[in-house]
Parts: sequence; C-alpha cells; structure tokens
Amino acid sequence: MSNPYRIRRPSAGIAYQGEFRFDGGLSEENLRVAVSYDYLWLNDNLSIPLATITDIETAGDRVVRITYYNALADKHEQVGLTAFSLLGKVDQERVWALANALTDSRARAGKVEDFLASLASGAGGRVPSCEKCGSAPAAVIDLAYVGSIGVMPIVGAYVRRPFRRLLCRRHAVRACLKWNAYTSIAGFIGFPGILTAPLEVWRNTRSVARGHKLGAIATVMLFMSGWWFSGPVVAMCALVAVLKLVGRL
Ligand SMILES: [Zn+2]
Repeated sequence: MSNPYRIRRPSAGIAYQGEFRFDGGLSEENLRVAVSYDYLWLNDNLSIPLATITDIETAGDRVVRITYYNALADKHEQVGLTAFSLLGKVDQERVWALANALTDSRARAGKVEDFLASLASGAGGRVPSCEKCGSAPAAVIDLAYVGSIGVMPIVGAYVRRPFRRLLCRRHAVRACLKWNAYTSIAGFIGFPGILTAPLEVWRNTRSVARGHKLGAIATVMLFMSGWWFSGPVVAMCALVAVLKLVGRL
C-alpha cells in the first residue's frame, strides 16, 4: 500500500454500499460509496481508514458529516455525503443507513493509535510512499487542471478537476509539469479560465514546492510550465489591443 488514503475499492467484506454525492456542490460526481470492516471508500481519490474517523454526525437528516484525521497532511479533514432519490429529493433513509453502517463499523475498527503505529512501522505494508514508484519520502500534493473555452455562462464550457496524490519529488514535479502544461493549453482560452487558470498553476506549483521544499529556481520553472503556451498568446492579445488603441488615438 503506497497511499493509505487512496486504496482500490474493496471487493469483499463490504458492510454497506450505496450511491452518494458530496454535499455542498463540491462535485456532481456519483460516488459508489462502500463501507468495509476497515475503510470508508468514496472514490479513486479518497478512501478513509475507519480508525481515523473521529466524528460521524447527521445534519438535518440530509447530510452525513464525517471528520477524520489525515495523518499524511497532519490535520483533521471533513467530508459531507448526501443522497438523492430519483425525483431529486434528499433520500433521508439512505443518509441514515450510511450513518448507522459507519457508526457500527467504526465501533468495531481498531484504534487510531494502532493505525498510526502501523503507518510508522510499515506493518501490513502500510508505509506511505510514492504512488507511482513506491519510493520514500513522499508528500501529499494537491493538483488541479482547468479547461475553459468560450465565455461562461453565455456560451462555452468550463471544467476544473482537483485531485490529491502522494508522490515523491520526481513524480510530483512531473505531475505538476504535466497538468500545468495542460492548463496552459486548455485553461486560459476563455472565461473564467483566463482568471482561474493562472491561479491554479500557482496553486499546483506551491503545493509541490511546499511538499518537497523546492528551491526558488525550480519553483519559478514549475510556475512557468503553466505559461509556455498561453503566455505568448496572452502577450500577443495584449499587444494587439494596445496597437489598436494607439491606432485609434
Ligand atoms: Zn515516485
């Protein structure tokens, strides 16, 4: 196991499963949530070890809020899950079913101290390490890419996909270069991409720079990787606009 917060969907030993969504419009994705004897599996990006769950509460019969300790990021995090019926109303029964199944399984799961000890000692193959190559040290990296075309919400499309990975320095830099380059090509040509893409490029860069303590030169180069395509385009547009303005005067 390289990233204990991102495992494959359990295929056996499932105590409960059902379709849910993130609360609060985080994404419209349908989650095939599964509760096993030791995990709450949400999607390919996040699976929560039951031992790390510190609080399960239902808010107004609509949402299950789960607080858990993310040992890799050394902080408590929260997710809210909700379910909808075919008519688009909140399915309260399913919300409660999940809350009950989680509470039951959580009560039977091990202690968080044991889970953290297994991470530290590597018991059960639980050493946090790079998801790509298995090498350590690895750091939690938050990345996102942006695609934007046309002008939203009049005509066009806009997409932002965030994801979190546990990566060694080499693979973190590679992933950042890749998604910054993608955002450079697909993200700037439209609205609101023209505003958000540079921000995402900076966030990607900052996440890798912090996680692996990059120097100033490497950080600037990573940031520039989000500009190599769109930078000249934006500069040309600005130049044309200026020339037009000057021509009119
Ligand atoms: Zn690696």
